[in-house]
Amino acid sequence: MNGQTLIESPLDPGQARLRRVVPAGEAWLHELGQGQTLRIVDLEGNQAADTLFYSLEHPTGEHYSAVHTIRAQGNVYLTAGSRLLSNLGRTMLTLTADTCGRHDTLGGACAAESNQVRYALEKKPMHNCRDSFLTALAGNHYGLTKRDLVPNINFFMNVPLTPEGGLRFEDGISEAGKYVEMRAEMDVIVLVSNCPQLNNPCNAYNPTPVEMIIWD
Ligand SMILES: [Zn+2]
Repeated sequence: MNGQTLIESPLDPGQARLRRVVPAGEAWLHELGQGQTLRIVDLEGNQAADTLFYSLEHPTGEHYSAVHTIRAQGNVYLTAGSRLLSNLGRTMLTLTADTCGRHDTLGGACAAESNQVRYALEKKPMHNCRDSFLTALAGNHYGLTKRDLVPNINFFMNVPLTPEGGLRFEDGISEAGKYVEMRAEMDVIVLVSNCPQLNNPCNAYNPTPVEMIIWD
C-alpha cells in the first residue's frame, strides 16, 4: 500500500443519471454540470485514464492546469481532497472520493513521439492517447483543437517521483473495482482517453475498460 487515506463514496450507481463503459483505446467527450459528480471506475484494474477538463463557458481559454493544481496543494499526486485548478487559478472540480489512493499528473499522455523516444522507433504507429484525444475532438463544436491538449491527469497511473527528481512508470497500484470520484465546481467538458499503451507496466501490458458514472 502507499499510505494514502482511502475515501469511499456514499453514492449508489443504481441512482446514477448515466453509466457508460469506455473500452481500452477509446475516448470519451462529455459535459459535466456544476454540482454533478463523475466517478471513473477501473473495472479490471491497473488501467490508466488520461483526462483533461475544459470550462464549458470558455473551452479554449480555460482548461485544467497541472502546474496550478500541484502548486496550490503542495503535492504532485492527486487523491481525495485535491482541487483541480484551471490555468486561471479557479477550482474546476474537487476529488471527493478515492479508493485507489494516488493519481499522476506529471507523466503526460502517451503519444507517437514519446513511444518512439521511450521504447523503440517501430512503436510510432501504435495507438496512443494523444491520437485518441484528437479523434474525440474531431468535429467538436467547442472549438477545441490540438493546441488545447495541455498536460493532463492520468487517473489510476502510478508514476512515482524518484529522490533525484526523475519519474518512473511503475506497475499500477490500482485494482479491479477501484474508483476515483469528483464533483464539478463549474460547468466543464471532460475529455478522457482510456489508455491503449502496451509498452509500460502501468496497465500491466493489458489495457482494459473503465466505467464513467454521473450523478446529479
Ligand atoms: Zn496512453
